[in-house]
Amino acid sequence: MSSCLFCKIAAGDIPSGKVYEDDDVYAFRDIHPKAPTHVLVIPKTHIATLSEANDAALLGTLMERVRFIADQVLELADGYRVVINVREGGGQEVFHLHVHILGGKKLPF
Ligand code: 5GP
Ligand code: ZN
Repeated sequence: MSSCLFCKIAAGDIPSGKVYEDDDVYAFRDIHPKAPTHVLVIPKTHIATLSEANDAALLGTLMERVRFIADQVLELADGYRVVINVREGGGQEVFHLHVHILGGKKLPF
């Protein structure tokens, strides 16, 4: 979607700290990190929010890549947290589905 910030990032039209990319997903560092490691993983297909994601294969691929990126690319050997904020009440500010990976310190719940 041409007006979407994260579509522009995935297309390379806006610079980002890319950590991983393949045909299905794009992963980059959050501009305001809330942990020593804070990466966002997005599907390249524009889906506004988890509430509108009814493609089980896409969601399965997204979560498998989140695991791969956290364990193999970021090497968060001590563990990490995975967060999806859903719509305004869940704290979602950018309406392109994204998974936060947070790690690098002991995280309070
Ligand atoms: P949300 O609150 O929607 O779950 O998270 C959106 C995240 O995107 C926030 O943590 C915010 O810091 C990050 N963000 C917003 N704009 C940009 C940007 O232009 N570049 C990057 N790398 N991150 C962004
Ligand atoms: Zn988008």
